Amino acid sequence: MKDWPRREDGEFILADIPLSRHITRAGKTPCYLYDRSKISARVHSLRSALNERIHIHYAIKANPMPALVCHIAQHVDGLDVASAGELQVAMNTSMPAANISFAGPGKTEAELRQATAAGVLINVESFREIRLLSGICQSTGYPSRVAVRVNPAFDLRASGMKMGGGPKQFGVDSEQVPSLLKEIDNAGLVFEGFHLFTGSQNLKAELITDSQNKCYALARELADFSSQPVKSINIGGGFGIPYFKGEQPLDVNTIIDNLNQLSEQQQLDFPDAELIVELGRYLVGEAGIYVSRILDRKVSRGHVFLVTDGGMHHHLAASGNFGQVVRKNYPVAINKPSAQHETVTVVGPLCTPLDLLADRVELPQAEPGDLFVVFQSGAYGRSSSPREFLGHPDVMEILV
Ligand SMILES: *Cc1c(COP(=O)(O)O)cnc(C)c1O
Repeated sequence: MKDWPRREDGEFILADIPLSRHITRAGKTPCYLYDRSKISARVHSLRSALNERIHIHYAIKANPMPALVCHIAQHVDGLDVASAGELQVAMNTSMPAANISFAGPGKTEAELRQATAAGVLINVESFREIRLLSGICQSTGYPSRVAVRVNPAFDLRASGMKMGGGPKQFGVDSEQVPSLLKEIDNAGLVFEGFHLFTGSQNLKAELITDSQNKCYALARELADFSSQPVKSINIGGGFGIPYFKGEQPLDVNTIIDNLNQLSEQQQLDFPDAELIVELGRYLVGEAGIYVSRILDRKVSRGHVFLVTDGGMHHHLAASGNFGQVVRKNYPVAINKPSAQHETVTVVGPLCTPLDLLADRVELPQAEPGDLFVVFQSGAYGRSSSPREFLGHPDVMEILV
């Protein structure tokens, strides 16, 4: 990947240190390495271009490594969690509870009680949650701060994953929101705003801006049904990163211009509210690599297989089994100079043909002992992989 500097001898450099030295320091492979300066640089490039009234939140789901979340918490305006486990990670950072929000379609009563006691904003996703929170407020005496997660009638086209529009398990259908707002008032909960999230991993700026405009317009419409003032409008994110050959980086300037315009509008409509975008992979995905060591080089009927000590049990997404319809290769490399190349298939140690890290790629001729690198691995890596599958060791994560 052109974004990662290499020494003349082919070694990748992270945080001024050659990759093999990081690995020696770690003591073993496989591991994920995350570059903290790339993460903060990504946040700041957005921050410096966006109107300061627009707040950037990090969705912990993308990468919940505690050290990484502590780092990013110092640079973003808020954290979004989707479980009590993620809530705990967020509470252990420097982020004030006031700037943490909690979403998710199946919150348990215990999670709602924890979130209420923590004082975070709860994005309610059903009528049931209102009833539970009403009881929790009465029994604990703590107020519940809530926002309504709205399932709009429209979706975010060309998204890797659609998370709104039509029938969905997320949020409350927009047409039911007026009666939900009444219940919030009757239950004595503190209503603060709306949360909309229409889709993920999108590389088309115009589709993202279109969805953000529609989300904002819907929130403005629904605000008329609330007796309490709107303090926050979270219009989601969906900013994608290029993973596969032929994909172009997102034209983020188009989105920034649009957000700045929306923010002007929001100042007129809701002068006391904040406009929030919540981003996961866009902030961390390109800052991480997954490194494994080649154990074996086998030739089977003329085809070369490199067998590594890492695989789908650590990096399900790179194996093509995390939501991809057609399997494609992540960008990969060998940590040594490009002398003679050959076409190889790189697999992991699991006894399943699904354990594929790169299929028929051109790589420098590699030997057992060489390091194999998968780029674009800072999001949806370790935490979204089946690490128990086949009983191999877990993967280490290092923030450099
Ligand atoms: C998953 C998720 C995100 C982050 O998605 P990315 O594709 O990583 O940006 C943000 N908000 C919500 C509600 C999510 O569920």
